[in-house]
Amino acid sequence: MLRNPFEDWGFALWRVLLVAGIGALVGLFVGHLWWGIAGALAIELARQLANLNDFLDWLRHRNQRDPPDAGGRWGDAVSLVSRLHRRKQFHKQRILRLFRELRRSTASMPDGVVALNADREILWFNRKAAELLGLRRKTDFGINLASLLRVPEFARYLEKGEFSSSLRIKPRIGEPTCLEFQGAPYGEGQLFLLVRDVTRQAQLETMRKDFVANASHELRSPLTVIAGYLETLSLGEELPEDLRGPIQEMRRQSERMTAIVSDLLELSRLEASDEQVVGQPIDVAALLAVLRKDLVARDAGKHEVSVSIEAPDGLMGDTGLIHSAFWNLADNAAKYTPAGGKITLRWWVDELGGHFAVTDTGPGISPEHLPRLTERFYRVDPGRARDTGGSGLGLAIVRHVLQRHGAELKIESEEGRGSAFACHFPRTRLVREPIAMTGDSGYSPTNDK
Ligand code: ADP
Repeated sequence: MLRNPFEDWGFALWRVLLVAGIGALVGLFVGHLWWGIAGALAIELARQLANLNDFLDWLRHRNQRDPPDAGGRWGDAVSLVSRLHRRKQFHKQRILRLFRELRRSTASMPDGVVALNADREILWFNRKAAELLGLRRKTDFGINLASLLRVPEFARYLEKGEFSSSLRIKPRIGEPTCLEFQGAPYGEGQLFLLVRDVTRQAQLETMRKDFVANASHELRSPLTVIAGYLETLSLGEELPEDLRGPIQEMRRQSERMTAIVSDLLELSRLEASDEQVVGQPIDVAALLAVLRKDLVARDAGKHEVSVSIEAPDGLMGDTGLIHSAFWNLADNAAKYTPAGGKITLRWWVDELGGHFAVTDTGPGISPEHLPRLTERFYRVDPGRARDTGGSGLGLAIVRHVLQRHGAELKIESEEGRGSAFACHFPRTRLVREPIAMTGDSGYSPTNDK
């Protein structure tokens, strides 16, 4: 415990007075009072200077030397500094221990971690990140990571600053290595970047896609032959009456299989690349007019179909893909809305971009199904969906087409009241001037489903 400073201060003052007193006595004894006092005070001052010197010397080399053996105020100063020094050492050791533990734990992580500052320069990385990205401890700190990797997609991912999704890239041309990056922002603009080697998953994914594409392709020719023979058989006059029913059913099923195979092929084509489609200007008003005509022809006027064009803007995209996506949504509305219902196709533009929506007064979809609706072969009511001849791939195709156009599908639905399927395109996809259409709009009136 510290002593009372005033008591100590008083003691030191008394000590000086005592020294001066002794000096005065000695002075009186030798007949020079003032010389006696001055001499005693000079000796005391020299002692204090020597203590100060010892103290400074110890402060300078305190790691190698023992503290000076001083009493009084100097002793207090020495013990105070020693205590502060011990406390500092304790915290330093603790932080060092923590840092070592952190380094050891991140080194044992199966994923790479890189910490970047707001300018995306490397602050720190673990062993796995060094291995995956070829980083060197001595030279690469402070270097911009995008300039080291030299992959434009990666530079865009860092620049965009939107880290809700991950990025997969092949960082070395000609090598199969595939890396997945996931950013996690922290602090003031800093970023933790997690890196994983997903080469094996990417290879399996490619194998799966190739398998589906090849199988669909191989199935197409035999199916065409079977469908052809069934059609010929069903038209034949000499077909026994009891076989007519089964042959009709076989025809229906072969048509369904053909629809599934052609949707699978379309999906495979869409999945073959993640790149954004550039495409050409599409006259949305003309496209919706064609869709309406096809829809009315398709269900022989069973529904009231209306089109609402609220902006003259066109859309930049792949004509065939956009037609296929819009048709899938319109076709679903017609498939699932009972006769007498209303279907509306709407196109409008606002500050967020261009929007196309298909609204129906059909049975609606309960909320628990909505997040899974764009999965392949996901159906709300499998029995009813099969009866309608659907392949279960329509919305998966729509999602892929929109992804390739930087757009999003949003579904709103209420059971018993109907559904709204909306495609939201970014402003960059809008074509401001109305597009001059040629006589042939280029949109095939036949549907793909
Ligand atoms: P399908 O070929 O079976 O129509 P989709 O992928 O196009 O496959 O649709 C998936 C499921 O979503 C459908 O099976 C159906 O249950 C539901 N669905 C799609 N559109 C609508 C709609 N307009 N109204 C009600 N349900 C719908």
